[in-house]
Amino acid sequence: MPFTSNDSTTSSSPVLTRESLRPDCGNCFALCCTALGFSRSTDFAIDKPAGTPCQNLDSDFSCTIHDSLRPRGFRGCTVFDCFGAGQNVSQNLFHGISWKAEPETTKDMFGAFKVVRQLHEMLWYLTEATTRTFDPNTSNQANDLRTAIETAMDDPQQVLALDLGEMHTQVRSVLMGVSEEVRSSYLATGDDHLDAALVPGADLMGKEMISQSLCGADLRGAYLIATDLRGCDLSGADLLGADLRDARLEGADLSKALYLTQAQLNAAQGDARTLLPSDLESPPHWFNNR
Ligand code: SF4
Repeated sequence: MPFTSNDSTTSSSPVLTRESLRPDCGNCFALCCTALGFSRSTDFAIDKPAGTPCQNLDSDFSCTIHDSLRPRGFRGCTVFDCFGAGQNVSQNLFHGISWKAEPETTKDMFGAFKVVRQLHEMLWYLTEATTRTFDPNTSNQANDLRTAIETAMDDPQQVLALDLGEMHTQVRSVLMGVSEEVRSSYLATGDDHLDAALVPGADLMGKEMISQSLCGADLRGAYLIATDLRGCDLSGADLLGADLRDARLEGADLSKALYLTQAQLNAAQGDARTLLPSDLESPPHWFNNR
């Protein structure tokens, strides 16, 4: 199904807030533990094909090793974020009736979850874009897209037929425009040698960048794996899709970073001095390695 934000059905305001785009596992039929697959690696102790329940899944859709995921080799489970897609698919699209209760819905429910997760991720970024842009027209454009995406999630068959490519293109255009606006409001203060390395997709893996001012840097899609960002100021830095696995964020200021997600923080290292946006939180493993 083609996607357009100009559809006449998109005249109402969006209703999903950032709070409702946070996972609510108690209202989800463990869709990430069933629909998705993962391979044995440093993040997952086992191979699990997509569409099959994890061996650690309990009959009530809870995880039997929830309190010891990292020590048991399931770090990936503590990093993953469904952006609230799990509860939306379980409770709204499939009306609170699980794939166990109605096995004939399993294929559609798992398929819808994969699509809705992408839609919710877009909503997460667009919601931020509406509040970070200085241009009311851009804010309206982002809100129109949010409404169009929400409207597209009315029923499972509609979700499964969506043209995500067109949707991604429209969302990306708005996000990049807002990024430019926000970043240009910050003055780059680092040395020239460092600034030259701060480009989208930059490979900064393992680099020591302690206490640098990275304000307004375009780090979209950058590889910041194990990068030492302790004490850095990332105000206005675009972190869309940046890989922050094991990045050191102790004492860093990310409170005004752009397009930051909980999954990025869950993959990184930080401490009580790390400053975060008000709608994100320090993951437990920053304090107790669990
Ligand atoms: S280990 Fe637990 S959280 Fe991870 S996929 Fe399995 S059941 Fe889900």
